[in-house]
Amino acid sequence: MSILLTNKWRFIIPASLGTSLGLYISTRFLSCANYNDTAKALKGFGKWQSFRITKIEQLTPNTKKFTFELTSDRSILGIKPVSFVLANVSRTWGPWNIRPYTPVSRIDDRGNFELIVKHMPGGKVSGQFFRLKANDSVSFMGPMLKYNWKPNTFEEVNLLCGGTGITPMFQLTRHILENPSDRTNVRLFYANKTEDDILLRRELEDLKKKFPDRFLVHYYVEEGPIGSGINRGRILKEDIKGSANSNKAMFFLCGTNGFIDTYAGPKGIFGLQYTVGGILGNLGYKPSQVFRF
Ligand SMILES: Cc1cc2nc3c(=O)[nH]c(=O)nc-3n(C[C@H](O)[C@H](O)[C@H](O)COP(=O)(O)OP(=O)(O)OC[C@H]3O[C@@H](n4cnc5c(N)ncnc54)[C@H](O)[C@@H]3O)c2cc1C
Repeated sequence: MSILLTNKWRFIIPASLGTSLGLYISTRFLSCANYNDTAKALKGFGKWQSFRITKIEQLTPNTKKFTFELTSDRSILGIKPVSFVLANVSRTWGPWNIRPYTPVSRIDDRGNFELIVKHMPGGKVSGQFFRLKANDSVSFMGPMLKYNWKPNTFEEVNLLCGGTGITPMFQLTRHILENPSDRTNVRLFYANKTEDDILLRRELEDLKKKFPDRFLVHYYVEEGPIGSGINRGRILKEDIKGSANSNKAMFFLCGTNGFIDTYAGPKGIFGLQYTVGGILGNLGYKPSQVFRF
């Protein structure tokens, strides 16, 4: 009898241990892997994913907003603020066919994501984007993290941008304001040629109404008629210097080279950000307080 029991347990113990181990591994790791697979649409460097266009909106004569469908309703794009994605519209391999674009949808939006694309005069990839129709697909790779935002690092962020330079600024602004545990104040200075060129204005105004104590937006327009609440001309030194506590303020900039040079001076060698010049340099801000996208 004792021999029989011993033999029996020799099979039962390893079998149940094996089953438990199998169950543990499948719940601990496989379910997690499955969740990640379905949750994050972008799969990392070198892995191109194709997404279908569900909607195209003409925002201005030379900008369009594209909505792309993710693989499932539960999927998120899988980016951290502030990130961009690489797009290949022609799907012909070669770096000359690939350009970076910055999603303007919320980073945790499920089922779809949005890009705003400006058609550059003679632009290769932006021209390809403008020929696309609903139901066409574009290949994307990413995410590419440009600045790793950490909540409550600064008391205030100042965002200076022109034209489509609004895209990373909007991604960051909405992320900061809609995160209940982030108390950072945001001041946005947004320059355009004409009032009609202002992108995401409705969304910015909605954020202003929702967060009146934490979000200020100043629009600047150079040409054509302007309505109330719009400043004529360029972003001025006097406008950006009035930060509540200059040591706790951070500046992010996105625009043409000329725009960046005017406000912060050019980036250093290899695009490193160890210097600050221009208006912010004159105002005494340190290189650690300035980031050029
Ligand atoms: C990190 C990052 C994020 C970006 N996000 C966006 C975005 O969200 N939306 C968007 O529309 N664009 C964005 N861009 C710009 C985009 O990647 C392309 O450069 C742009 O669409 C032009 O590409 P193209 O192939 O049409 O033009 P190209 O064929 O490469 O160039 C055509 C002409 O346009 C000029 N040109 C190209 N880019 C610029 C520029 N930025 N400013 C002034 N002149 C230029 C070239 O000198 C050339 O004369 C981003 C760029 C970077 C680096």
